[in-house]
Amino acid sequence: MTALRAIDRLDTAPRFTEQDAIGLNRRFRGADTQEMLRAVIGDRLAGDVAVVSSFGAESAVLLHLIASVDQSVPVLFLETGKHFPETLAYRDALVGRLALTDFRDLYPALPDLEARDATGMRWSYDPDGCCEMRKVRPLELAMAGFDASFTGRKAFQSSTRANLPRFEIDTADAQGRLKINPLIDWDGAQIADYFAAHDLPRHPLVERGFPSIGCSPCTHAVAPGEDPRSGRWKGWDKTECGIHKPGEEPFL
Ligand code: SF4
Repeated sequence: MTALRAIDRLDTAPRFTEQDAIGLNRRFRGADTQEMLRAVIGDRLAGDVAVVSSFGAESAVLLHLIASVDQSVPVLFLETGKHFPETLAYRDALVGRLALTDFRDLYPALPDLEARDATGMRWSYDPDGCCEMRKVRPLELAMAGFDASFTGRKAFQSSTRANLPRFEIDTADAQGRLKINPLIDWDGAQIADYFAAHDLPRHPLVERGFPSIGCSPCTHAVAPGEDPRSGRWKGWDKTECGIHKPGEEPFL
């Protein structure tokens, strides 16, 4: 049902509805993550799906899970031009280690950068505008060819993610794309166990106090026990970069 709607859609028709998201959440209630991923990818329940990965502190887990099902699932990375060099090296290492065959860097448009961020310092006085041109727009363009995206969001990361479901409609997208959060109910211990069980490499900044890693100007180390995402956009009333909306409502 859902897959047919996605594949046979008119270009202007919503790909999925809230009822689709509710149905998928019900269908996979109690199913483990691997079982859900095999069905979604193998049976194309969400149509054409890409993974959006930050190659951050815990990204290796979702990428490994998906690569275990299909190494050709497209992997999208927002190459903002502001990443830590350690993140870029980690990205390259993971792409090789997991043999991801459809990895894509997404770049901001050069005219946008020249017109709105000639100094490269927009992050310091307008982080929303900076994220808009370096993340939101490039991802919107890239997602034109997809019906749904996998994200690595987890409930324990922050209060704004605490109530997210596995399947949700992307509220920022008029086309009714699905966002799929396979790890939403994983806790820190499960993540650590998965890293150990599969001998996955850690992002080198984790041991330096960065449990959540984004662009270098907007990411700070946090103290043990603090909200893992509290080091992002420190000093600003901003919790997400714009590709995810805080408080997106769950469909259970
Ligand atoms: S996280 Fe910071 S540097 Fe990166 S795009 Fe957003 S505002 Fe710009």
